[in-house]
Amino acid sequence: MNDRDDFTQQTKNILCKRVGGKCSNPNCMRETQGPHSDMHKGISIGQAAHITAASQGGPRYDPDLTSEQRKDISNGIWLCESCAKMIDNDEKLYPVELLKTWKYMAEYNQRCIINQTDNLLKTENKSESRKNIACREIKKALENLHVILQYAYELWSHNFKESFDGYDLADEIDSHWNLYEDNLKYIYSYHDKQLILYNIIAEYSLDLGAEVCDEVDKYLRLLNFSFQSDNWGGYDNYWQCFFDMISTNIDSLNTHKKNIDNFLHKIYTA
Ligand SMILES: [Zn+2]
Repeated sequence: MNDRDDFTQQTKNILCKRVGGKCSNPNCMRETQGPHSDMHKGISIGQAAHITAASQGGPRYDPDLTSEQRKDISNGIWLCESCAKMIDNDEKLYPVELLKTWKYMAEYNQRCIINQTDNLLKTENKSESRKNIACREIKKALENLHVILQYAYELWSHNFKESFDGYDLADEIDSHWNLYEDNLKYIYSYHDKQLILYNIIAEYSLDLGAEVCDEVDKYLRLLNFSFQSDNWGGYDNYWQCFFDMISTNIDSLNTHKKNIDNFLHKIYTA
């Protein structure tokens, strides 16, 4: 027995057409229609999502609607598969009114495109959208860096903390290099991620504002440490100093990371 009020194929097609096949989430807007390798077919990564759920117990379910109203085109919104999933995973964050606004804006946007007229909503929001791009970029870059540092901390606490506390860690790594090589190479890639974060901050500092930039600066400064090397490999305490830095700073790094995420969340939704 199926008690879902599903859309007809025709309703789905029209929902897709009305937004030019793009996801209606204004922060996504990805294309959902394309060619299949078989020339007789097309592919779709889009979905006609229900604004209020198709069946009882679903997200944003409205018991006052009739079955006809629930499967009516007015209750549908075209989204990419990942946005469709997202709105159903957290219905509080994506209430009915917000989804109706997305739908209206996406259809308005598509009407402007097809009429070749200016999208008045878009020109107003130009600086905002640059800020949101900056937020996304920072969040991604910070995440990529932080995950490596946490991995480094785990490696240190499981392998070195007990056995090499106060002992020369450099010796242990030197004498068992083969054992640690892959892990340490992965950890060393944090330098690249750090550089990416520096570049984003440099490019978007004005959009992000002082609060975020200060916090990122504090985070990055915790990663500075000095080490000694004789340049030909006979003596090098890089890893010893690195793990000293990580084990001392991991709590502060986590705190700054959390602060940055909170600031970004605040300005992203502003
Ligand atoms: Zn999407």
